[in-house]
Amino acid sequence: MADVIRVDGPRASFTCPGCKARHTIMIAPSRPGTPVWTWNGRKDQPTFKPSILVTGTWPITDDEADRIMAGEKIEPEPFRCHSFVTDGRIRFLSDCTHEMAGETVDLVPEARP
Ligand SMILES: [Zn+2]
Repeated sequence: MADVIRVDGPRASFTCPGCKARHTIMIAPSRPGTPVWTWNGRKDQPTFKPSILVTGTWPITDDEADRIMAGEKIEPEPFRCHSFVTDGRIRFLSDCTHEMAGETVDLVPEARP
């Protein structure tokens, strides 16, 4: 099977089908205090534990940028992506703010380098 994650030293990353963005987790200790996930060693059918929680805010749009420049106050929209990656599939928990909340789908194969 094709690889669905990239491993770079202590980091593993994958393209999140819910966020349409990459998520990166640590699979080996790097700095003290940084959380470390367990990994089953497979790039084609990875399992990570525990769950992966990503929070932040969506980048502002060009339209919002124009409105900010015009003096309007715009609050960036918060997002939350909470998932389990098991055997190469990603299960999105219901607290995700994106449209794939509650769904389980295959991870996307990595493009060949
Ligand atoms: Zn995500």
